[in-house]
Amino acid sequence: MTDYFDELNCQPVEEENTGTHQLMLMLRYLRQSGFDALLNMNMNDDRLPPAASKELVKNLESRHVTEDDEKCAICLLPNENLNGQKFLKLPCNHEFHDSCILPWLERTNSCPMCRQEMKTDDEDYEEQKKRKQRQQQRDEEVEMLHNSMYG
Ligand SMILES: [Zn+2]
Ligand SMILES: [Zn+2]
Repeated sequence: MTDYFDELNCQPVEEENTGTHQLMLMLRYLRQSGFDALLNMNMNDDRLPPAASKELVKNLESRHVTEDDEKCAICLLPNENLNGQKFLKLPCNHEFHDSCILPWLERTNSCPMCRQEMKTDDEDYEEQKKRKQRQQQRDEEVEMLHNSMYG
């Protein structure tokens, strides 16, 4: 088993990351076959969080791709014939071609690699997120209390 992954020069996909792995494969496929498919597919999918904040996307750090850079994880194209291609850096420090990640961020607010969510322009969603965080905090406090009493 270990040899197998060594040969492929990659890490085994862990159980909890399987969803992300599938997402990357999907993104790659759609990148190759055109993002229109993705846009249509997600048109009625309200499970995806809303688009990333336009302001935030506009201010993402960008830089020119060089041949020494790691491949963009979405398209996996070799860094040659660069033609002024640019990488955009997300707040989680993952970098993708602007042409690969921008259509994605127009649909949803999370990094396709690590799922870290970015700010959105959707007030309802932001409110909901805050509420969820408070709820989570409360749950953790209750659990800590529980552990300190019975643990
Ligand atoms: Zn790319
Ligand atoms: Zn990331």
